[in-house]
This record gives sequence, C-alpha cells and structure tokens, in this order.
Amino acid sequence: MDQDPPQQLRQQTILAQFGELALESDDLDEILTEACRLVGEAIGTDFAKVVQLQPDGKTLLVRAGVGWKDGVIGVKTIKASDDTSEGYALKTGEPMISPDIDKETRFRYADFLIDNGAKAVANVIIIGGKDRPPFGILQVDSRVRREFSEEDIAFLRTYANLLAATVDRLRVLDEIRDASTRLRLALEAGDLGSFEMDVESGRTTGSDRYDSIFGIASSDGDWTWDALQGQVVKDDQARIADAMRAALTDGGELRVEFRIKRADVSELRWIELRGRLDDKMGGPARLVGIAADISDRKLAEQALVATNETLEAQVSDRTISLAESNAQLDAFAYTVSHDLRAPLRAMEGFARILQEDYAADLGEEGNHYATRIVGAAKRMEGLIDDLLAFSRVQRVDVAMKWTDPARAIRNAITELRAAGFDESTVSVEVAPSFPPVRADRTILAQVIGNLVLNAAKFKAPDRSAHIVIRAERRAERVRIWVEDNGIGIAPEHQARIFNVFERLHGQETYPGTGVGLAIVKSGVERMGGTYGVEADLDVGSRFWIELEAAEDGERKGVS
Ligand code: ADP
Repeated sequence: MDQDPPQQLRQQTILAQFGELALESDDLDEILTEACRLVGEAIGTDFAKVVQLQPDGKTLLVRAGVGWKDGVIGVKTIKASDDTSEGYALKTGEPMISPDIDKETRFRYADFLIDNGAKAVANVIIIGGKDRPPFGILQVDSRVRREFSEEDIAFLRTYANLLAATVDRLRVLDEIRDASTRLRLALEAGDLGSFEMDVESGRTTGSDRYDSIFGIASSDGDWTWDALQGQVVKDDQARIADAMRAALTDGGELRVEFRIKRADVSELRWIELRGRLDDKMGGPARLVGIAADISDRKLAEQALVATNETLEAQVSDRTISLAESNAQLDAFAYTVSHDLRAPLRAMEGFARILQEDYAADLGEEGNHYATRIVGAAKRMEGLIDDLLAFSRVQRVDVAMKWTDPARAIRNAITELRAAGFDESTVSVEVAPSFPPVRADRTILAQVIGNLVLNAAKFKAPDRSAHIVIRAERRAERVRIWVEDNGIGIAPEHQARIFNVFERLHGQETYPGTGVGLAIVKSGVERMGGTYGVEADLDVGSRFWIELEAAEDGERKGVS
C-alpha cells in the first residue's frame, strides 16, 4: 500500500529534526523525551515512551515518555520476559506490534498501559553500543485500535537506530568525562603539568602547572619548542634535541630529563618531559605529554650518591685502621709466643730441677708445690699455643681449594691417638667417603681437629666414647657432622660455647682453655661456611659445619 506523500515527508522531516537535536544535546532525558514527542507526531499516535533495560537484565524501567499520567515515568517497570511484548522485542530484536491489545493472546500488557488507555502498541528495540546489552525499547502507544504500516515500522526501526547511536554517543562522552576527571586528579596528585605541541610550528600550550614548571605563560602563544630549548643548559641541549627527534621520527615515546635555567629562579631546575606523537585524526601532528619538576628527586639522588661516597671512604678508613690493629695484634702474638714462652719454660725447667734434684730437701709439701708449678706452667703453655692458633686462624690468608675432608679427618684421628685417647676408650666411626668441599686445607684440619678432640674429651664417665664422623650433601653445600655420645650440652649454653674462653666445666673435671670452638667458629666463617650444634644433656652432642660443595671439575692436581 502506498503511503500518502505528506506522511512520508513528515517522517523524513522528523528524522532530520531529531538528528539535529541528537547532535546538539548532551542531556539524555531531554533527548529521550523529545524522541517520544517526535515519534508520536511522525506515526500519528497519542503517546510514546522509552523503557530502559536495567542492570539486572530482567527489568525495564519507563525512563521517558509523553502523554502519560503522573506516576508512570521514572516509576513503572515492566518484566523483560517472553510473555510481555517488550520482553519479546528485546529478545528477538524484531518489532512487536499489537493492533488491538484487547484481542492480544501472545502477551500480557502492564496494568498502567491499559489504565492510560492504550489500545494499540508498537515496540522496537533500541540496541546498545558494540558488545553491550540493548539500551531498551521505544514504544508508541495509541488510544485507538490501529494497524502500523510497513512504512511505519521501517520508520520506527530507523528512528530507534538513530536513537541508539545517540544514546551510545552520550555514554562514550560520559566515559571520556570520567577518564579525563581521573587524568586530571592523577596529574594533580603527581604535580604534573600537561602540554600539547604543534609539531610543525613547535607552538606549545600547557596546563597551569606546566606554565609554573617553566615559569612562563604558555597560553600567550609565543611559547615554542625553540623557546623551551633556549632555557635548557648547554650540556643537556643535545640530549633533549636527540630525544625529540627520535620521538618524532620513530613515533616512540619521548622521555628525557634535563636542566633548565628559569628567568624567575636563580638555581637550575631538573625537568622531566614525557610525550607521544598524536597524528591519528588527520589534521596537524601534535605531540602531547606531561612535564614534571624533578629537582627534589635529583637532589635526593645526589645526596644519596654523596652519602655512599662518604660511607665508602669511611669503610676504607676503617679497613685501614683494622689492618693496623691486626698488625699490632700480630706483634702482640709474636711477643706472647716468644717473650712470654721463654720465662715460662725457665719456670717449668727450674721447678723440674727442684723435683728431680732437691726432692729429699723439699719434703712432701715442697714437692707438692713444685708439681703444681709444673702443672700450671704446662697449662699456661697450652693457653699460649691455643691463643696463637686462634689469632693465626683469624689472620692467615685463606686459600680456598677443592678439598677432600677425609684427609683432615684422618689427621684429626692420628692426633687424637697421639694425645692418648686410645681405641679401648674412644672408638671412631668414619663414613667411607665424603663429598669434596671448597676449603682452606690448613683451617679445615684445625677445625675438624678441635671438634674431634672435644668429642673424645667430653666423654661421659659411665661409658666409653663413640664418635661418628659423616657428611651430607645439602643442595650446593656439604654438612660435615662430628657426633659423640658424651656428656651433651644444655640448650641454654649451646650458643655461647663458640665464644672465646667460654667453658662449662672446671679444670679438674675437663681441662681446657675455652679456645677450641672459637677457632671452629672463626675458621668456618673465614671459609664462608656456617656451623652449629645439636645436643642433649647426658646423651651426646652433634657438632656440624657446612661448606660450599666443590665439583670434581675443580679438582686440579689434588692427590
Ligand atoms: P675447651 O675444650 O678447651 O674447653 P672449647 O672452646 O673447645 O674449649 O669448648 C668450649 C666448651 O664447650 C667446653 O668447655 C665444653 O663445656 C663445651 N663443649 C665443647 N665440645 C663439647 C662436646 N663434644 N660435648 C660436650 N661439651 C662440649
């Protein structure tokens, strides 16, 4: 059926009118209301409305409309289900027409619709933007039963699509507003200025903060890239020019730090510029970016560098004075070993002469004292020996090499036997082989020697001593254990026994100097290792040291 020309013309005019409004207005309610008014005019119905799909995806709210009684717009809702005409149009995307509501069998219409006198209805979908749910339904309502021609429906579809594009434009506009608010807040929080430069002319305009960073008014129009470069100190000019050239030719990010001399402040300021070329929209190419005054950060960095240098100087001073006091200690150790030892030997020697040649004259008491003099001199000699060994382990140059711990263990056992611990009282069980370690062989021998000697010495009185020496590989390290069934150590003493002169017993029960474990600690530390003990009182002690494992490839000319 041909539409009469005036009607068609009216619809065309209304599309044009609505198109204009859609471009001009940013007010969604105004646009939707006007859309309802114009569509009623175009189709010749009494009233119309837009129902908007709610975030739940199930409810449609009457968002705008014309010709309705109070209490409908912004209030009434319709279910987006298959048994409502609106729900069905939404689901299928096809227009739903009811020429006579009273005779409608497919759908139920909302009470408020009937109450408002609607007799005939046409629903068309207002689609959403890309990948978004539909916005809702445009509905034209008539108070008289009527058909909607094909042309009417075609018009309604075009109209609803125009409306959809408009709604989407507003949504995007809204998102842009949100994004620029966030951007503004971020710029403010970071104390950053923003700018935009016309690449061709170099003319630059910036935010207020940008202007204050450079101490200018870029909005005057005479602030250009050349003017900016004029402020940059000579040494930094090539750097900033290169960075800008690279950003403009490769389209990469501009990121450069430089110093400027501002007209209004005497000291130099450090500035960081970041930007990116923007030429996508056609038109003149622009560089947009941000600027920051990073002087404070630079000052802090410089202060840090200065502090580090001072620290390094201090460390090297201390190292020198440490070396000096080590040298003094060396001298002291030498004195102790030679000067102190000679009179000690003399004392011991004379006491022995007394014992041997004047035993009869001395009487019992005299002999007793002579024996005690010899004993004390012997102990002091042991103390001197141990102290010298301790000072040596702290001072010798460490030569780390591929080392088989078995050799140090064999030596330790030989020394043990030589010291009078024979197999009848002290048995030693040694693992058949040991993983090689990186160690200084002399120090390792000293360390293991001390551990083995202690294991034998701190024997429980009621049982013969049994020592187990074994090792285990732990990732990149090897742990060597020296375990005994001796008197054990109470937990509260286990840490301090590694300090020099710490002993838990009197000389009568267990003689010693309290230096052995200090040598273990110091020696292991000098080899970059760790040490420790697990012990139970009256059950036994398990001392361990841990050193870096050596690989067979490192073994060079080792027997
Ligand atoms: P010293 O053996 O000369 O006393 P060390 O430094 O070697 O000195 O040991 C310090 C103290 O740690 C010892 O006096 C002893 O009390 C305790 N100790 C060391 N090894 C053992 C061990 N295997 N069993 C029990 N106690 C030990």
